[in-house]
Amino acid sequence: MIKNGWLEQAIQRESPHADERPDLSDISVLVVHGISLPAGEFGGPYVDELFMGTLDTTAHPDFAILEGLRVSAHCLIRRDGELIQYVPFHRRAWHAGRSNYCGRRRCNDFTIGIELEGTDTTPYTQEQYQRLAEVARQLIDHYPALTRHRIVGHEHIAPVRKTDPGPAFDWKRFKQLLNDNLTKKV
Ligand SMILES: [Zn+2]
Repeated sequence: MIKNGWLEQAIQRESPHADERPDLSDISVLVVHGISLPAGEFGGPYVDELFMGTLDTTAHPDFAILEGLRVSAHCLIRRDGELIQYVPFHRRAWHAGRSNYCGRRRCNDFTIGIELEGTDTTPYTQEQYQRLAEVARQLIDHYPALTRHRIVGHEHIAPVRKTDPGPAFDWKRFKQLLNDNLTKKV
Protein backbone atom coordinates (compact mmCIF):
# COMPACT_ATOMS: atom_id res chain seq x y z
CA MET A 1 0.00 0.00 0.00
CA ILE A 2 1.12 3.54 -0.79
CA LYS A 3 -0.22 6.20 1.56
CA ASN A 4 0.58 9.88 1.07
CA GLY A 5 3.45 8.92 -1.20
CA TRP A 6 5.01 6.45 1.25
CA LEU A 7 5.18 2.67 0.97
CA GLU A 8 3.65 1.24 4.11
CA GLN A 9 6.20 -1.57 4.36
CA ALA A 10 9.24 0.72 4.03
CA ILE A 11 11.38 2.15 6.79
CA GLN A 12 10.83 5.90 6.49
CA ARG A 13 13.82 8.25 6.54
CA GLU A 14 12.89 11.59 5.03
CA SER A 15 15.79 13.10 3.10
CA PRO A 16 16.28 16.85 2.82
CA HIS A 17 17.44 16.26 -0.77
CA ALA A 18 14.10 16.63 -2.54
CA ASP A 19 11.77 19.26 -3.94
CA GLU A 20 8.49 19.67 -5.81
CA ARG A 21 7.79 17.92 -9.10
CA PRO A 22 6.70 20.27 -11.91
CA ASP A 23 3.78 18.01 -12.88
CA LEU A 24 2.27 15.71 -10.29
CA SER A 25 0.27 13.81 -12.90
CA ASP A 26 3.49 12.81 -14.68
CA ILE A 27 5.07 10.14 -12.52
CA SER A 28 5.72 7.82 -15.40
CA VAL A 29 9.12 6.09 -15.39
CA LEU A 30 10.93 3.93 -12.86
CA VAL A 31 14.74 4.17 -12.79
CA VAL A 32 16.76 1.33 -11.26
CA HIS A 33 20.18 2.17 -9.82
CA GLY A 34 23.03 0.35 -8.11
CA ILE A 35 25.16 1.91 -5.37
CA SER A 36 27.64 0.99 -2.66
CA LEU A 37 29.94 3.07 -0.48
CA PRO A 38 32.81 2.45 -0.54
CA ALA A 39 32.36 0.64 -3.87
CA GLY A 40 31.88 -3.07 -3.30
CA GLU A 41 31.32 -2.83 0.46
CA PHE A 42 27.82 -3.60 1.66
CA GLY A 43 25.88 -3.09 4.87
CA GLY A 44 27.60 0.08 6.10
CA PRO A 45 25.93 3.37 7.00
CA TYR A 46 27.40 5.49 4.22
CA VAL A 47 24.75 5.26 1.49
CA ASP A 48 22.10 6.15 4.03
CA GLU A 49 24.21 9.06 5.24
CA LEU A 50 24.78 10.26 1.67
CA PHE A 51 21.03 10.41 1.03
CA MET A 52 20.35 12.04 4.41
CA GLY A 53 23.02 14.69 3.85
CA THR A 54 25.07 13.57 6.87
CA LEU A 55 27.98 11.75 5.19
CA ASP A 56 31.40 12.62 6.60
CA THR A 57 33.40 12.78 3.38
CA THR A 58 36.66 12.37 5.30
CA ALA A 59 35.58 8.90 6.53
CA HIS A 60 37.11 7.20 3.48
CA PRO A 61 39.46 8.47 0.74
CA ASP A 62 36.92 7.51 -1.94
CA PHE A 63 34.36 9.87 -0.43
CA ALA A 64 36.30 13.07 -1.21
CA ILE A 65 34.54 13.42 -4.58
CA LEU A 66 31.19 13.31 -2.78
CA GLU A 67 31.91 16.52 -0.87
CA GLY A 68 29.01 18.92 -1.34
CA LEU A 69 27.05 16.46 -3.46
CA ARG A 70 23.33 16.57 -2.68
CA VAL A 71 21.62 13.43 -3.95
CA SER A 72 18.84 11.09 -2.95
CA ALA A 73 16.62 8.33 -4.26
CA HIS A 74 13.06 7.50 -3.42
CA CYS A 75 14.06 4.08 -2.10
CA LEU A 76 17.07 1.94 -1.24
CA ILE A 77 16.89 -1.85 -1.24
CA ARG A 78 19.69 -3.45 0.75
CA ARG A 79 21.29 -6.83 0.06
CA ASP A 80 18.93 -8.60 2.46
CA GLY A 81 15.88 -6.95 0.87
CA GLU A 82 15.44 -4.30 3.55
CA LEU A 83 13.53 -1.36 2.09
CA ILE A 84 14.17 2.23 3.11
CA GLN A 85 12.28 5.16 1.63
CA TYR A 86 13.83 8.63 1.64
CA VAL A 87 11.50 10.73 -0.49
CA PRO A 88 7.71 10.42 -0.90
CA PHE A 89 6.88 9.59 -4.51
CA HIS A 90 4.95 12.80 -5.18
CA ARG A 91 8.13 14.75 -4.49
CA ARG A 92 11.18 14.94 -6.76
CA ALA A 93 14.22 12.97 -5.62
CA TRP A 94 17.67 13.83 -6.97
CA HIS A 95 18.96 10.62 -8.49
CA ALA A 96 19.13 10.87 -12.29
CA GLY A 97 21.40 13.86 -12.88
CA ARG A 98 21.93 14.86 -16.50
CA SER A 99 19.75 12.35 -18.28
CA ASN A 100 17.52 11.70 -21.25
CA TYR A 101 14.55 9.35 -21.52
CA CYS A 102 13.20 9.05 -25.07
CA GLY A 103 14.20 12.64 -25.83
CA ARG A 104 13.04 14.08 -22.52
CA ARG A 105 15.65 15.63 -20.26
CA ARG A 106 15.53 16.41 -16.54
CA CYS A 107 14.40 12.88 -15.74
CA ASN A 108 14.09 13.60 -12.02
CA ASP A 109 10.94 15.56 -12.90
CA PHE A 110 8.92 12.49 -13.91
CA THR A 111 10.75 9.45 -12.59
CA ILE A 112 10.93 7.38 -9.43
CA GLY A 113 14.46 6.32 -8.46
CA ILE A 114 15.19 3.07 -6.66
CA GLU A 115 18.72 2.17 -5.58
CA LEU A 116 19.86 -1.41 -5.12
CA GLU A 117 22.82 -1.85 -2.82
CA GLY A 118 25.40 -3.44 -5.09
CA THR A 119 27.91 -2.98 -7.88
CA ASP A 120 27.73 -3.35 -11.65
CA THR A 121 29.40 -6.76 -11.51
CA THR A 122 28.25 -8.35 -8.24
CA PRO A 123 25.09 -10.42 -8.69
CA TYR A 124 22.13 -8.74 -6.99
CA THR A 125 20.40 -10.95 -4.44
CA GLN A 126 17.15 -12.85 -4.79
CA GLU A 127 15.79 -10.79 -1.87
CA GLN A 128 16.51 -7.62 -3.86
CA TYR A 129 14.78 -8.89 -7.00
CA GLN A 130 11.74 -9.92 -5.01
CA ARG A 131 11.55 -6.65 -3.13
CA LEU A 132 12.07 -4.56 -6.27
CA ALA A 133 9.33 -6.48 -8.12
CA GLU A 134 6.98 -6.01 -5.18
CA VAL A 135 7.67 -2.27 -5.02
CA ALA A 136 7.43 -1.84 -8.80
CA ARG A 137 4.09 -3.63 -8.85
CA GLN A 138 2.68 -1.33 -6.18
CA LEU A 139 3.95 1.74 -8.02
CA ILE A 140 2.44 0.58 -11.33
CA ASP A 141 -0.87 -0.07 -9.62
CA HIS A 142 -0.80 3.33 -7.92
CA TYR A 143 0.49 5.70 -10.61
CA PRO A 144 -1.60 5.60 -13.81
CA ALA A 145 1.16 6.85 -16.13
CA LEU A 146 3.68 4.23 -14.98
CA THR A 147 3.70 0.88 -16.77
CA ARG A 148 5.92 -2.20 -16.80
CA HIS A 149 7.35 -1.00 -20.12
CA ARG A 150 8.58 2.22 -18.54
CA ILE A 151 11.27 0.79 -16.27
CA VAL A 152 14.90 1.55 -17.14
CA GLY A 153 18.38 1.53 -15.64
CA HIS A 154 20.34 4.68 -14.83
CA GLU A 155 22.79 3.48 -17.51
CA HIS A 156 20.01 3.77 -20.11
CA ILE A 157 19.10 7.40 -19.40
CA ALA A 158 22.67 8.63 -18.76
CA PRO A 159 24.72 6.25 -20.95
CA VAL A 160 27.88 8.35 -21.16
CA ARG A 161 28.15 9.07 -17.44
CA LYS A 162 26.59 6.09 -15.70
CA THR A 163 26.86 2.30 -15.80
CA ASP A 164 24.51 1.24 -12.99
CA PRO A 165 22.84 -1.09 -12.22
CA GLY A 166 25.22 -2.72 -14.69
CA PRO A 167 25.54 -6.14 -16.31
CA ALA A 168 25.01 -7.78 -12.91
CA PHE A 169 21.36 -6.76 -13.01
CA ASP A 170 19.30 -9.48 -14.69
CA TRP A 171 16.46 -7.60 -16.41
CA LYS A 172 14.80 -10.78 -17.65
CA ARG A 173 14.67 -12.23 -14.15
CA PHE A 174 13.26 -9.01 -12.75
CA LYS A 175 10.61 -8.62 -15.48
CA GLN A 176 9.53 -12.23 -15.00
CA LEU A 177 9.06 -11.69 -11.26
CA LEU A 178 7.18 -8.47 -11.97
CA ASN A 179 4.86 -9.98 -14.55
CA ASP A 180 4.04 -12.91 -12.29
CA ASN A 181 1.92 -10.77 -10.01
CA LEU A 182 1.00 -7.67 -11.95
CA THR A 183 -2.63 -6.64 -11.92
CA LYS A 184 -2.45 -3.79 -14.47
CA LYS A 185 -1.47 -5.63 -17.67
CA VAL A 186 -0.63 -2.74 -19.99
ZN1 LIG B 1 22.51 5.59 -10.53
